[in-house]
Amino acid sequence: MLDRASHRLLDERAVIDRDLAERLVELSDDHLPALIALAHQVRLAWMGPAVEVESIISAKTGGCPENCTFCSQSARYDTEVVREPMLPLDKLVELAQRTKDLGGTEFCIVVAVRGPNQRMLQQVIDAARAIRSSVDIEVAASLGLLKEGQAERLAAGGIHRYNHNLEAGPGFFPRICTTHRFEDRVNTCRMVTDAGMELCSGGIFGMGETWSDRLDLAFELRDLGAHEIPCNFLNPRPGTPLGDAPLLRPLEALKCVAMFRLVNPDCVLRYSGGREVVLRDLQAYGMLAGANGLIVGNYLTTLGRSAEVDLAMLADLDMPVASKPLTGTGGRRPLSVIPVIA
Ligand code: SF4
Repeated sequence: MLDRASHRLLDERAVIDRDLAERLVELSDDHLPALIALAHQVRLAWMGPAVEVESIISAKTGGCPENCTFCSQSARYDTEVVREPMLPLDKLVELAQRTKDLGGTEFCIVVAVRGPNQRMLQQVIDAARAIRSSVDIEVAASLGLLKEGQAERLAAGGIHRYNHNLEAGPGFFPRICTTHRFEDRVNTCRMVTDAGMELCSGGIFGMGETWSDRLDLAFELRDLGAHEIPCNFLNPRPGTPLGDAPLLRPLEALKCVAMFRLVNPDCVLRYSGGREVVLRDLQAYGMLAGANGLIVGNYLTTLGRSAEVDLAMLADLDMPVASKPLTGTGGRRPLSVIPVIA
């Protein structure tokens, strides 16, 4: 199976199909080092050696009306999250500068809402303009479900990438959220790409989903042409319905990263929330399993380790930090124009 996948991805420069992906998933842990090594080779061949560094900031925290079972920002659960209104513009500019100083090329403004109203949309556009006028960094946004015309306004306002995670495959999604549908999320993802922004969309591993659910998600993201795919690992939040869920096994988490790379060879695969608590001593191994993006600093409601420690990890791995955002194509670029990177 590994030889077939290698031939397909490295020799033919083509993507693998669902059948082959399922067979790779069935391989035992004895084959995991080889699976991980292949994912790393694929990442180097399709995306190069550089790692894209980003930080995310919760610009408006808590009080979300939705009921995602993993999320401590839902107003429906009694969690430790303290509601915070929208951060002022000068604070966002200051945080974007701090991201730039750490070598980051993208700064993502995240708000906890079902979707933005017009006032919030304008606040984010104003913030993006202020950041771009004083900091040499790309601005991304994550504002929930979009309505007609909002994606175009964000794109025109200088938002280059929009994050909207599918979180899980279509079969599993109703088990983690009932206040909106999987199709609603897919529609927003389509609006993002139709408006010309890059799509950042990924999921969370360890919520009780099966490997079939994970592959559903991986292939859905490929079909949507996701440029960036964040790989999050459930860090159970007290007070949420998933607050007592067991942590994913570290080797299982590595297999998730590797499989998402093998299904989506030309995306920025971002190693994201929960990695510290789930991967623990295997932290660096994830960067050798196909990831080529890193969120540094804290996550939305949980603490990451310090950015300096993560940058030292990249230096130890001899992985250069990208000087500008990497561009994946979600498998949509004709094979004939995909550069071969030695
Ligand atoms: S929509 Fe987003 S912020 Fe709201 S509960 Fe779901 S994951 Fe949390």
